[in-house]
Amino acid sequence: MSPYKAILLFGAPGTGKGTQGALLAQVPGLHHVATGDLFRALDKQSDLGKEFTNYSSRGELVPDRLTVELFLQSLVQRALEGKFQRGRDILVLDGIPRTVEQAVALDPLVQVLGIIHLTCADQEAMVHRMRQRALKQGRPDDADESVIRRRFEVYRLESQPVLHHYPTNRIHDVSALGSPAGVLAKIMEIVAPILDSNSVNPLA
Ligand code: AMP
Repeated sequence: MSPYKAILLFGAPGTGKGTQGALLAQVPGLHHVATGDLFRALDKQSDLGKEFTNYSSRGELVPDRLTVELFLQSLVQRALEGKFQRGRDILVLDGIPRTVEQAVALDPLVQVLGIIHLTCADQEAMVHRMRQRALKQGRPDDADESVIRRRFEVYRLESQPVLHHYPTNRIHDVSALGSPAGVLAKIMEIVAPILDSNSVNPLA
């Protein structure tokens, strides 16, 4: 079977991956998948739901095997439900791969066409965004400042090295600062040519 085609949304916590992912989900030919959303949708009393709460409430990542399994199951389920077509649509992956081990596990299955790296040198601006989000969404991993700080550390230690796993010419740095529309415009300059060169034309 042909691999899934994907664009990765990459960046530290609070850089707006979820916001941009939701906007990109409206673009024909793209299908947004956020692993954080998959975990949050689990029954909190299920074994995996309990594992998720245990790790995320401490700002830690869920173990790779559980994460990759949940992600791949969700792709199969979404395709079965007709939400996306494997050969036609491009996945926008928000929150996976988040470790080099996950990137290696996905290599045979997912063809990474481009990586949007949302950057922000001002960590305090991102901490502020996350605290605002915690108030609105009641997320356990954003509620406590020490957990937020741990998430940044985990990002630096475990997720940033993922960027070295891919060829540099596939990585596009985009400043996360500014309005969602402004950031989206910069992302679309990268995404539109990828859609064109993969001859994805949902109207055809
Ligand atoms: P997010 O909404 O992307 O910030 O994810 C919320 C939490 O879900 C993270 O802090 C992790 O505990 C867990 N999570 C999401 N994606 C992954 C992943 N790819 N690998 C491990 N844990 C993840």
